[in-house]
Amino acid sequence: MFISKNLNVNEKGNLTIAGIDTVDLAKKYGTPLYVLDEDLIRENCQKFKKSIDSYYGKNGLVCYASKAFSCKEIYRIMKDEQMGVDTVSIGEMYTAILAGFPSEKIYLHGNNKTKEELRFAVENKIGRIVVDNLNELEMIDSIAKEANSKVDILIRVKPGIDAHTHDFIKTGQIDSKFGFAIETGEALSVVKLVSKFDNINLIGAHCHIGSQILDVDPFVLAADVMIGFISDVKDETGIEMLELNLGGGFGIKYIDKDDPVDYEEYMKAVASMIQKKCDQYNLKKPFIVIEPGRSLIAPAGITLYTVGARKEIPNVRTYISIDGGMTDNPRYALYKSEYDAIVANKANEERSEIVTIAGKCCESGDLIGENMSLQHAESGDILAVCATGAYNYSMSSNYNRNLKPAVIMVKGGKSRVIVNRETLEDVVRNDI
Ligand SMILES: *Cc1c(COP(=O)(O)O)cnc(C)c1O
Repeated sequence: MFISKNLNVNEKGNLTIAGIDTVDLAKKYGTPLYVLDEDLIRENCQKFKKSIDSYYGKNGLVCYASKAFSCKEIYRIMKDEQMGVDTVSIGEMYTAILAGFPSEKIYLHGNNKTKEELRFAVENKIGRIVVDNLNELEMIDSIAKEANSKVDILIRVKPGIDAHTHDFIKTGQIDSKFGFAIETGEALSVVKLVSKFDNINLIGAHCHIGSQILDVDPFVLAADVMIGFISDVKDETGIEMLELNLGGGFGIKYIDKDDPVDYEEYMKAVASMIQKKCDQYNLKKPFIVIEPGRSLIAPAGITLYTVGARKEIPNVRTYISIDGGMTDNPRYALYKSEYDAIVANKANEERSEIVTIAGKCCESGDLIGENMSLQHAESGDILAVCATGAYNYSMSSNYNRNLKPAVIMVKGGKSRVIVNRETLEDVVRNDI
C-alpha cells in the first residue's frame, strides 16, 4: 500500500512512520519537516555489510556516501554501525570529524578538490583520497611532503559503462568530468606517473557508474572491467592494486513501477565475477569497497508539509500548494524525479484526484511532482512526500530566503531533533 516499508496507517486513519503518527509530528515540530527512521537506516547498513561478509569473506568495507544526507548525527550512527564514509568537501569532512567519526575510515572524492581541502585531508589523516586529475596528484604530493607524510590514494577511472535505472550501455564513454579513461590508456599512464611521487601510495582503483540503478548487471560488468584494468596494470607495471572501490548507485523504490533488487543480490553477483576474473588473471582478490548513499537513507525518510492554496484550473490541472518546495526538495525541478505522496491525515481514503504539487517559490518550475494521484487535499491538511531521506536536506537552499526545515529522527516510538529548524537570525547571520 505504501512505497516504503516503514510507513503504515493507524486507527485514526493517519499515516505513521516507524509506528509514529506523522500528523502528531507535524503538530509538535511544525512543517516543512524532514523525518528519518533510524532503525531502517541501521538495517540498510547491516544488509550491505552482511552481503560483503557472506559473499566476499568479510574482505571489504561499506562506505556511506554522505552527500546523500550529511549532519553530525548521521556520522555518529555510521560510526556506530562500523561503516566507512565518503565525503566530497571540506564541509563534509569537518562535520564527520567533529562528530567523532574515525578519519582513517573517511574517503575524499571530488573532481576539483581545492588545496585547502587536500591540506585538511592530509592534516587530519583521512583514510583515502580518490584522485581524479593530475593537478590534484601534484598538490597531494607537495602537501604530503610538507607534512612529512605519505598519502594513500585510489585513482578514479572511467570504466566506460553508463547506467540509468534499467538501461545501461557499454559506451566506452570518455566524456565525463570524473576520472581517467581506461580505453584511451589514460588511466594506465596515470598509474605509471603515480609511482614517481615519493609521498603517494597507490592502493587501488575506484569507479562509480551511475545512480538509482535498479539492476545488478551494470555492477557486474563494472567489476569485470575493473579487474581487467587491475590485471593490465600488473602486467604493464608490476604494481598489483589491492583495493577495488566499485562506487554506489543502488536504486530504491520511489514510485510503484520501480522494482529494485535486494541489496544482497549485488554483492552475490559481483563477488562471483571478481572470483572468476581473479582466477583467470591469477590475481589476489582485492579488498572491496562499495559506496551506497541513496539506498541507505532515502527510503528511511519522508517530508511533511502543510497544504495551503488549492487552485483548480478547469480542463488544465489542479495545483496543490505546500509550505515548502524546491528549496527543501529540488529533485523534481532538477531531474523530474518522481515521488509518491500521501495526505497524511487522510491516509485511509481513496486517492480520488490527479494533482500537481507546487512549492511556494517564485519559480514556475518549483514543483514536487505532476500527475500525482492523491487523496482530496485541502488547506490545512498534512502532506507526506515519501522516500525523501536522500538528496533533499543535503540539496536544500535558502532561495527566496526560505528557512531550512528541521530534521527529526524517530526510533522506538520516540522522536528527537537532529538538525534545528533555521531561524530568521540564521538567514541574516552572514549579512553585513
Ligand atoms: C554520489 C556517489 C555515490 C553514492 O551514490 P548513490 O546513488 O547515492 O548510491 C557513491 N560514490 C560516489 C563517488 C558518488 O559520487
